[in-house]
Amino acid sequence: MIHYVRDYIASGEVFADESVFCIRCGTQIMDLGYMEMPSVHDPQKKVNVAYRKKLSNYRLLPVALYRKGSRTVTHLPCCQDCVKEIDPGNDTGAIIRQIKRAMQIEARYIGMPDEALQSIEKAWEEAKILRKLNPQEMIEGKLLQED
Ligand SMILES: [Zn+2]
Repeated sequence: MIHYVRDYIASGEVFADESVFCIRCGTQIMDLGYMEMPSVHDPQKKVNVAYRKKLSNYRLLPVALYRKGSRTVTHLPCCQDCVKEIDPGNDTGAIIRQIKRAMQIEARYIGMPDEALQSIEKAWEEAKILRKLNPQEMIEGKLLQED
């Protein structure tokens, strides 16, 4: 099986109507759901609102990201199987390419011009996924070790 080939975001017809797939294997992990909300104009009335619904295989893998000279935390959308399989050291190129493409899909979706798409390309040129976060870091929400 080839990994990291399917875009993990697919935009739909209406705003917020995006399907999300595992960044590694492409399995769907978020779907479009509907819920009833009170109408803004008439709180007695209920309207159907679309939202992104997590499927049961939905996971987020926290990793250390290096970009533009600084280290930050980012979360990779993936399925319950790939959360164990993602290997930041070996997969960094493929993961960054995936993030870049997803950001461009979203930018295009909201109608940003071509220059904006190119600047995303540039902004992520040197980016790297360094490693998975250790459990302590996940609790404290900051990077404890220098890479
Ligand atoms: Zn997967």
